[in-house]
Amino acid sequence: MKTWLTSGGIRIIRILSGRSNVFLVTNGTKNILVDTGLSIEWRLLRLRLNKLTVYHIDCLILTHSHFDHAGNAARIRKAFRTPVIIHGNEAHFLKSGTSPVPDGTVTYSKAIIKMLSGISSSIGKYRSCRHDILVESRYELGNFGIDAYILHTPGHTAGSVSIVINDEIAIVGDTMFGIFPGSVFPPFAEDPRQLINSWGQLLDTGCSLFLPSHGSANTRELVQKEYHKRR
Ligand SMILES: [Zn+2]
Ligand SMILES: [Zn+2]
Repeated sequence: MKTWLTSGGIRIIRILSGRSNVFLVTNGTKNILVDTGLSIEWRLLRLRLNKLTVYHIDCLILTHSHFDHAGNAARIRKAFRTPVIIHGNEAHFLKSGTSPVPDGTVTYSKAIIKMLSGISSSIGKYRSCRHDILVESRYELGNFGIDAYILHTPGHTAGSVSIVINDEIAIVGDTMFGIFPGSVFPPFAEDPRQLINSWGQLLDTGCSLFLPSHGSANTRELVQKEYHKRR
C-alpha cells in the first residue's frame, strides 16, 4: 500500500486503489478514513483495515456522494460506529444512496454521459447513509487529533471537498484526476469554471502534492500549469 509521510508525522496510506482510491490518514493513534470505494470492494476494504490493525476509525470523510466514493459509507458507519462527515450540498444524495450524473467535460465523456442518460438519470446506487457532521466552507480536524482541515472545493459536484494535511499534502477527491499524462482535468464535472477556481484555492495552500481519487499523485507544478492554462 503506497504511503506518504508529512513532516508533522502524519501518514497517508492508500488502502484501496485501482477503481477509486481510499486513503487512511493516521498519526498512529487517530485514524481518519477518506472515502470508501465501490460497494463490491467492501470485503477488500475490511481486509486492508485489518491488515493495518485499524480497529477504530475516528471519522469518515466523504469527498462527495458518488457511488465509487460513498459505496461503503453506511457499512463503515455501522461497523466502526464512525461519524460520517460530508458537505451540506451532498448529504441528501448520501441519504438517498444515489447521486446525479455530472456532465462530461471532454468529447468522450460527453458521449458516455449521453449514452448513460438514455438509461437512467443517476448512476450506481449504494446503501443509503446518514451523515453526522456537515461541512460548509472549511472544517478543522484538530478535534479528531490530526493537523488537517477540510476545504470546500466545488466543481466536480457542488459539495466536493478536499482534505489539506499539515499544509503539505491534499487529498482532492475528483477535483483533479491523476490518470491522464500531463493533465489533472476530470472527465466529468458539474461546473468546470468552479472546478478550476477550486484548483486556485488548493494552490493557495502550501501543498506540494495533490492525491486524487482516481490515478496517481499530481505535483504542484503540474496543477499550476493546468490552472494557468485553463483559467
Ligand atoms: Zn465523482
Ligand atoms: Zn470518482
